[in-house]
Amino acid sequence: MESISIYDILLIVEKRQLLQEPKIVSEDEIPKGHGAIAAVEGTIIISGQEQTLIIGIDRYFPYRKPQFYLKAGVSQIALPHLSPEGFICYVQEEDLVIDYKNVEGIIAEAFYAVLAELEESINGKNTRDFVAEFEVYWGYLKPTYTIFSLISLGGKPRLLPAIDIENYVVVGENEREIKSYCTTEQVSKEIIDNFKFKKVLYLPLKNGTTLIPPTKHKFWTNSQIVDNLFQNVDPQFKSELYSLINRAPKVGHTAVVDLPINDKTSSLFGITFKQLRKTHKHPLISRSDKYEAYPASVARYDRAFILPRGGAKLNFVDKSVLLIGCGALGSVIAEQVLKAGITHLSLVDNDILKVKNIYRHKLGANYLHEKKVLALKTELERNLYYSNITAYPVSIESLLSKNSDFLTQYDLIISATANPTINFFLNEYLYKNINELSIIYTWIDPYGIGGHVLLSNNKKKGCYNCLYSDPSLQEGRYNRGSFAKKGQNFSKRISGCGSTFVPFGSFDTLQTTSLAVKLILDVLQGKEPGNPLLSWKGDAQEFIQEGYKLSSRYFQNQDELFSNRYDYYRSSCTFCNN
Ligand SMILES: [Zn+2]
Repeated sequence: MESISIYDILLIVEKRQLLQEPKIVSEDEIPKGHGAIAAVEGTIIISGQEQTLIIGIDRYFPYRKPQFYLKAGVSQIALPHLSPEGFICYVQEEDLVIDYKNVEGIIAEAFYAVLAELEESINGKNTRDFVAEFEVYWGYLKPTYTIFSLISLGGKPRLLPAIDIENYVVVGENEREIKSYCTTEQVSKEIIDNFKFKKVLYLPLKNGTTLIPPTKHKFWTNSQIVDNLFQNVDPQFKSELYSLINRAPKVGHTAVVDLPINDKTSSLFGITFKQLRKTHKHPLISRSDKYEAYPASVARYDRAFILPRGGAKLNFVDKSVLLIGCGALGSVIAEQVLKAGITHLSLVDNDILKVKNIYRHKLGANYLHEKKVLALKTELERNLYYSNITAYPVSIESLLSKNSDFLTQYDLIISATANPTINFFLNEYLYKNINELSIIYTWIDPYGIGGHVLLSNNKKKGCYNCLYSDPSLQEGRYNRGSFAKKGQNFSKRISGCGSTFVPFGSFDTLQTTSLAVKLILDVLQGKEPGNPLLSWKGDAQEFIQEGYKLSSRYFQNQDELFSNRYDYYRSSCTFCNN
């Protein structure tokens, strides 16, 4: 990387006549906070006013864009895209490809972009831009108080439960949700059990509201608070809000304000009132100067903000999934299912985590010798807010023997056990007992030659039983989806009796998991019309070197495998043909 000196910048500014009377800024006057190491300043006229503009460069220039600052004056008032220190946000680095060989072009292009933006701001043409960036401007006020919000935005103004923990507040729709959030945040059980809940006011403003943020020199006056907040509440909610705050004026002395940016998203900020007296009117309707108001910052932790979305709504909040088998495949599927936004997950596995599992399993050495499902619940709930995991450290057979209706509470079953007998059992059980409860089976072939995902009981024909050669022919059960030729035994030869270790690596797990999770999401959204067998092919070199034989299916290419995905169906199958 070649470096550019500030004299080069000065020459460009002079040559292109960007600033009047340009000069190099002395070292102690270089603006701080954005990494500028050198700067040029000069004057310009913007909308008839003379301003001093500073062009700064950081040590990585020209691989980073130049910086622009308004020296003084205007920073006393709020302008969109201008920080209190005069720093001008004119383009996001992510939206920019910098032609770093053309330094003159960079400076000139950026300069004119800044000029256009300042003119718009000073003439009030982009006041609406304040709304989307309102939280940034609120942050300039340096609030000393933070509100962690679990509020589901929308609806009418309401008083919500909240708790104070040290110097922050957690507010949510109900007490249970607040306690669950605090558990994820590792607040001790003793503190949580002794919570004394108070009330915080949720105050949604009407769509299209434009607010000018206060500057750090002057917060809103009490009269401005009434104009900006109460007067911008949707008229249909006003009488309700009035009764909320009138009923008990001291209640709701902190408010979380919801300023809509558009119909999908909002800026949130908090305001706290102090010196309230019982006899006073609430500060949202009183212009009295007897109380004091302070800004509070709001950090969003609500479901809609955190959980992944599909379209305008959360797709999976009311779906419940059962995952049987929490080994290498199951543990990674569990994590991906939660990350897709399916928050209600039950796990079944009676195994413990062993040393040989560690390089393939989601859990590492930290959880050695623990029950896999209990450890997974701990690990995943600690990291993913709103995940709601029920762990069953027992076998699925024992669950079903105690409660034959156990499966009916779920929207989808996933079997990631490496045990075909259990899969046969589940297949038969579902076809005989529960109509249209879909099940996905997934497994990996040895030595990473491939992995498979099969959907059954999803309206159409084709099931786990179809996949196996007809047992009535007395040829032994063979999985026709396998990439390994019939009649070979892997686990016993590799690791001896008493072990079911079939060699494959973490990469093979990921390939198979991505097929499985895609299918899980398709099924839950009703996008999969049939019962496909989906497979991916890996490298077979080691498998062949070990003297094993591939099946004919392995020699289909990826397109053929996909277009034949429903063809494993057997018309003689007694389960899916009824
Ligand atoms: Zn079948």
